[in-house]
Formats: sequence, structure tokens, C-alpha cells
Amino acid sequence: MHFTFWGVRGSIAAPGRHTVRHGGNTTCIEVRTDDDELIVLDAGTGIFPLGQSLLSQMPFTTHLFISHTHWDHIQGLPFFAPAFVAGNTLRIHGPGDPSTGRDIREVLMRQMEFAYFPVGEPELEADMAYHTLHEGQCIDVGQARVTNLLLGHPVPNFGYRIDCNGKSLVFTGDHEWPNGDDPPERRQAIIEFFRGADALIIDSTYTREEYPAKRGWGHGTFDDSLIAAEEAGVGCVYLTHHEPTRSDDELERVCALAQARHPTAPPSLLTQEGMTVEL
Ligand SMILES: [Zn+2]
Ligand SMILES: [Zn+2]
Repeated sequence: MHFTFWGVRGSIAAPGRHTVRHGGNTTCIEVRTDDDELIVLDAGTGIFPLGQSLLSQMPFTTHLFISHTHWDHIQGLPFFAPAFVAGNTLRIHGPGDPSTGRDIREVLMRQMEFAYFPVGEPELEADMAYHTLHEGQCIDVGQARVTNLLLGHPVPNFGYRIDCNGKSLVFTGDHEWPNGDDPPERRQAIIEFFRGADALIIDSTYTREEYPAKRGWGHGTFDDSLIAAEEAGVGCVYLTHHEPTRSDDELERVCALAQARHPTAPPSLLTQEGMTVEL
């Protein structure tokens, strides 16, 4: 199994000369199983260049898993060119909206309404299938198994774990750690979900100094990610969902400070667009 980052930025795309090293696109990760099935985690703006890279490989099937439906995790979907080409298949899994009862199809397709996007849902020529996920459901994709756990965010957010022939990766989507109001079992359940993963791709938006002013916003810190990774015995940590106002230099500076505070944590890296990891 291997995976590639196509978008690593949080909240809003942040292109520009200060973000060229790590990248400005919002979250999207391409995963290839051992039997070369294509799993895509989130459809932020990074899914646009991913779609372009796949045009030469059509027809193909994409298994898209949406962590949650905040804009920075779905807004690239209308620009995923393979969805407009007959012969391709797009299977989309993700949470519905409990505040309205809308399923994942309706939540996603509303951003293709007339007022927001020039091309409508009927023009999606690929074979489209939608599956509103519930916590604990398990989906098999080729030789891989995808399981989920609801994590801490203002809207339902699934962390996904992909296991394939003894290798595993976990992607948190957006995730704030339980605080004093939550039962301690909650944190333990998350650690167990991470347990032994070869790769942990984890929301590390804030520094520990920034966090108190952002409590309840639904994001993690570098320090908490490293502490949890050590506790869960993961192989390597991929710190992601970079704060959109943070330059490359600043990102590397604050990350290095956090890493120095946790010398016994597993190896960790800041995610970068274009980075590919073989498990
Ligand atoms: Zn986000
Ligand atoms: Zn979010």
C-alpha cells in the first residue's frame, strides 16, 4: 500500500510564495492498495490536480471517503474531472448532516446548485454511488478494509483506518482531542483506533501556545499529536491540516520546537503536496 498527499492545507487554500514547499491545496490524499484499488481521502482542492493526473488512466473506479463535509474537505469535488466522464465509477462514502437529515449525496451536491457552480449533478457522467456512513461500519475495497471512528469536531467527522495485508494507515480528518468534559474512555478509544498504525496522518493545526484561544474549534496541536502517536505505538506521524496563515518557514520552526519537546515520540514529518509514502 502507498499514499500520496495532494492537499495538506487546512480551512482554506493558501497558494503563494510563502507556502510553495508544503503546498496550498486543501486536504486530499490518494491511497493505492496492494491490488491497486484507488482510495481517495477527502476532496479538498487537492483533488483537482489528482483528477488531472488520472485522466490518462481512464476508465477507473474511485472509492472516495469524506472525513466530514466542511468546505475545505469537499470543495474540490466539482472539479474532479473523471466524475464527468462516462465509464468511470465514483463511490462516495461519508457522513450525512444530522442537523437537517440530509444524506451525503445531498450535502455534496448542494455545492453544484445553479447559484454555486456552472455544471449540475445530471452532468456527472460517471457511474455515481453514494453511501452515508455510520460509525463502526466497515467497507472492503479490494484487499483493503476501511474502518471509521467519529472524532472531535463541530460536525460529524470520521477518522478512517485502512488496513491492507498487515500494513495500516490512519487519517483523522479534523480532530480535536477530548477535554475535561469528556469521559477518559473517549481518548482511550481513539488511541486504540490509532494502535500500531504504520502511518498516522493527523490534524495538527495549532501550536500548544495557540490552542487555548482556539479551544472548541475542532483541531489538534503538534504536541498532542506526538504524545498520542507515542502512546498508540504508531510507526510514523504525518502532521497535517496546516494553518492557512502559516508560512513554510514558520511551519517548520514551530514543528521543530514541538518535536524537540517529545524526543521519544515516533518519527514525524510535516506533510507536503507531492509526498508519497510506501508502507
Ligand atoms: Zn478542515
Ligand atoms: Zn472541519
